[in-house]
Amino acid sequence: MTLKELLDKTVEYFKKKKIDQARLETELLLAEALHLKRIDIYLQFERPLQEDEVNRLRDLVTRRGKGEPLAYLTEKKEFYTREFFVNADVLIPRPETEMLVQQALATDAAAKKSPLKILDLGCGSGCLGLTLGLELPLSEVFLVDISPAALSVAEKNAQRFEIQDRCHFIETDAKNFHHELVFDFILANPPYISRDDTNVQKSVLDFEPSLALFADENGMQEIKNWLPVASKHLKPDGYFFLEHGFDQKEVIEKSLKTNEWFKSFKFLKDFSDLDRLLIASEPMK
Ligand code: GLN
Repeated sequence: MTLKELLDKTVEYFKKKKIDQARLETELLLAEALHLKRIDIYLQFERPLQEDEVNRLRDLVTRRGKGEPLAYLTEKKEFYTREFFVNADVLIPRPETEMLVQQALATDAAAKKSPLKILDLGCGSGCLGLTLGLELPLSEVFLVDISPAALSVAEKNAQRFEIQDRCHFIETDAKNFHHELVFDFILANPPYISRDDTNVQKSVLDFEPSLALFADENGMQEIKNWLPVASKHLKPDGYFFLEHGFDQKEVIEKSLKTNEWFKSFKFLKDFSDLDRLLIASEPMK
């Protein structure tokens, strides 16, 4: 079988399986199985394939057919223009999470180019903390996660981007994080989906780590636990960036008003026009 024949066959199969971007996903998996750049596939259409190449692709295609996300099959996902290593131990970075980085980079503190201290609570792949660390080359980054497996992924990414000398990896539940340092930026994308949310996609439910997705109290438990931690560890002129669920703005606002963790805060919408981000500053604790 030639490369082109296998490509066509796979696209047909993915279409039958109702995979939206059948052609694109096929090309990406082919590139992975054949250790090629996607663009090079087109230069080798007529090449007959070796048995082991066909087998490698078949394995990936079967897994994709069962709903496993593409990012876990290729073990990569782009975030803020960089390619992060990901596996099933970490949440696949979502495009809307890039907003936290953009907002942090838009602050005066980032513009000053001074050595900043950055804390990523519940870091997963490390996409937030490492990206900000890379964008702010004088900074030092502290990455915290409850999952040792997730921390290894973050460490691997730190090495990939050669930033490990400026990184500290701390294995603890974010709600118990305690450090004598205070930080210029604290970023968090905690688990915030309600355990009884029926809108979660099957591939997310079946393959992504539930620890990184779901929380008690309608998805609010970790957010409520992490807010005081952020307040305690934020510099007087620092900023806390928190991703949250589209329906959680009101509860978070109420909680902030009753608890006086921060004197100042605002909410931003994501590019789908959904409430998604809290920016809090002037910590009171
Ligand atoms: N935005 C993610 C999703 O909808 C959830 C991320 C999270 O819980 N932190 O799948």
